[in-house]
Amino acid sequence: MVVVGGGIAGLAAALRIRDTAPDGTAVTVIEQAGSVGGKLRTGWVADVPIEDGAESFLLRVPEASDLAERVGLGDDLVSPTSAGATVWVDGRLRAIPGGNVMGIPADLEATAASGVLSDDGLTAVRAEPGRPGTPLGDGDVSVGDLVAERLGPEVVDRLVEPLLGGVYAGRAGHLSLRATMPALAAGLATQPSLIKAARATRGKPGPPSPIFGTVRGGLSRLVTAVAHESQAAIRTGLPVRALRRTADGWQLTVGSAGLGGSTTVRADAVVLAVPAGPASKLLTDVDAAAAGTVGVLEYASVALVSLVLPGRLALPPGTGVLVPASAGRLVKAVTYVSQKWGHTLDDHRGEPVTVVRASVGRHGEEAALQRDDDALIAAVRDELTTLLPAAWPEPLGAKLSRWGGALPQYAPGHLGRVAAVRAALAGEPTLALAGAAYDGVGIPACIRSGQAAADQVLSALALQRREPVHG
Ligand SMILES: Cc1cc2nc3c(=O)[nH]c(=O)nc-3n(C[C@H](O)[C@H](O)[C@H](O)COP(=O)(O)OP(=O)(O)OC[C@H]3O[C@@H](n4cnc5c(N)ncnc54)[C@H](O)[C@@H]3O)c2cc1C
Repeated sequence: MVVVGGGIAGLAAALRIRDTAPDGTAVTVIEQAGSVGGKLRTGWVADVPIEDGAESFLLRVPEASDLAERVGLGDDLVSPTSAGATVWVDGRLRAIPGGNVMGIPADLEATAASGVLSDDGLTAVRAEPGRPGTPLGDGDVSVGDLVAERLGPEVVDRLVEPLLGGVYAGRAGHLSLRATMPALAAGLATQPSLIKAARATRGKPGPPSPIFGTVRGGLSRLVTAVAHESQAAIRTGLPVRALRRTADGWQLTVGSAGLGGSTTVRADAVVLAVPAGPASKLLTDVDAAAAGTVGVLEYASVALVSLVLPGRLALPPGTGVLVPASAGRLVKAVTYVSQKWGHTLDDHRGEPVTVVRASVGRHGEEAALQRDDDALIAAVRDELTTLLPAAWPEPLGAKLSRWGGALPQYAPGHLGRVAAVRAALAGEPTLALAGAAYDGVGIPACIRSGQAAADQVLSALALQRREPVHG
């Protein structure tokens, strides 16, 4: 069995195969990069472990914490030591009001008290529950269009888009409601008020529990442990260039076309856990229409600048700040890493440090990233001094991580396109798709998709064994 792509989706698939396939089943993970992990990668800056990519995962769904437990990292799960992000509005930091659903203000009093919205903005929000909207039905709309129409453009600009942007680096006007807020979309089928639908999705308040978690020492530890526990043969530095159906399974063309040449690998089943671009290319010989539909998905490019600063910097309260696109800034979010995660207060050679991470880049604004590394780091450092009231010392270390074409942009109609691709491939159950291109970009969703892909190919193989094809 072959898993193409060694991101968290592919590795979760490999481990699921190990855990549920008949004894002796061989699994190979083929990864084009020099190491596995994909968007999960922990690096070092000034001797401090820093996430180059993803930082944490949702704990309100079980997949990531269960996976960490499964691979022996349960005791190393940690949660933020401070809570509450802020948003930069008219030059001031305002606490993001509690009780919102991806920025949709379900708690009107908290929203009013936060000062995030102007008086006019608040009036529009307060009027909404009494003003029936058009039922959503089965259709899909962009989050930005829906929220602007029902609650006014300020809610989009100051709350919804900064929060959505933290996940997708996308513009709310181009992101699908059904794909990015499925529970809310479902609620709107029967509930004409957006605010009431948002309240319903929040459910009953329970005891406070941490929303996010991560692994002490960094997410690369999770990657390494999952790869190890899967007992898969991990082959790195090898791009899969073509995928073809054979009489009894699949043939993959692996390796570069140039020097070194390529080899073929045969497999009884394949999990394709790569982003949409390579997935579309690999599906071309399998089903051209499905390949075309997968290839429609666009991606945003982002970059992260991590700074390790000497001493304990007095930063504003909370975990960080989101900067609305309308502010016209380069930086779209800042995380006060050491303030958010007490456990990362690892000292720099015995001296205390402060770690800050700024993210840059929105979908459609790739030009902002087109400068050399030093210039981009300098521009971010400059901007931080104007965004945050702190004395900024010379950093002990700075690191730029570029993620070109990394975050999928689920445009309206995304779920329909994914369903169409799965329907087109239904006749090939020993081939399964997994990863952020389909059913969610967050780490838990990617893990779930890898596990589901593994389950699909394993049951297809079990069925084949029971009903051998006579030819
Ligand atoms: C900067 C950044 C920050 C993020 N922060 C968070 C966060 O804090 N929390 C969260 O939940 N999510 C976060 N995400 C999203 C999440 O990290 C990703 O959606 C998720 O890790 C994707 O996993 P994946 O396995 O689907 O894909 P990937 O991680 O993209 O893995 C796919 C792998 O396939 C390989 N590959 C591609 N083509 C081929 C080929 N032809 N042959 C062989 N291998 C190939 C790639 O090299 C890659 O390793 C973040 C994403 C980014 C970019």
